[in-house]
Amino acid sequence: MSDLGPLLELQEHDLAIDRLRHDRATLAERDRLAALTDEQTELASSRAIQTVERDEFARHEQRLADEAQQLGEQIAAAERRLYSGEVSSPRELQALQADVEQLRRRRGSVEDRELAAMEQREPLDQVIAALDARRDELDAEAAGVQGELTAREGEVDAALIAERAERDQVAAGIGPTFVADYERRRERARGVGAARLVGSTCQGCHLSIPATEVDRIRHQPPGTLSYCDNCGCILVP
Ligand SMILES: [Zn+2]
Repeated sequence: MSDLGPLLELQEHDLAIDRLRHDRATLAERDRLAALTDEQTELASSRAIQTVERDEFARHEQRLADEAQQLGEQIAAAERRLYSGEVSSPRELQALQADVEQLRRRRGSVEDRELAAMEQREPLDQVIAALDARRDELDAEAAGVQGELTAREGEVDAALIAERAERDQVAAGIGPTFVADYERRRERARGVGAARLVGSTCQGCHLSIPATEVDRIRHQPPGTLSYCDNCGCILVP
């Protein structure tokens, strides 16, 4: 290889690929999606806690409602007996009447407690409904951001495929030994495998090369490889 220029071209493509990979890894949509996911998780856990509490009040309320209904049935049965004409003894009738009144008082007290339980449950229902509305908003937003993320990844992937194809074409014109040497150096030197020597400065690490060394590099036969002592990259005079 007499002209080392293609190594610089290869380097440019590789840097472009590095940038695209960095872009893909740091897409803002991914951070937004992660933040939304955190909020969704937090909301779900808060909803679970509120639901346990709400269900407890609801169960209590249901037990009291059942109890009130049972008492209602007992009252109805006692009243049926009372007005059936089957009972004629005044003392027995009086006792039955007292039973009905006592059952009514008990039912009244059970119904008061049922109402109190309902008043405790209802605000929690509202809290849960608000959480559900927020959850629906978050779900819709996350779906939108996920769509944007997929689209952005698709764009970057398409650019990467194009860049890699161009890079491979350049590499094919250089020869495997040079490419392998370049790649080893690129791995060691934070992504720079070949750089232009401008004046006495390596454009890979931006450090100066001793004047005698610069002179030697500039006067060696074309295609001879020289390396930067500082970063190790191939120097292209
Ligand atoms: Zn250097």
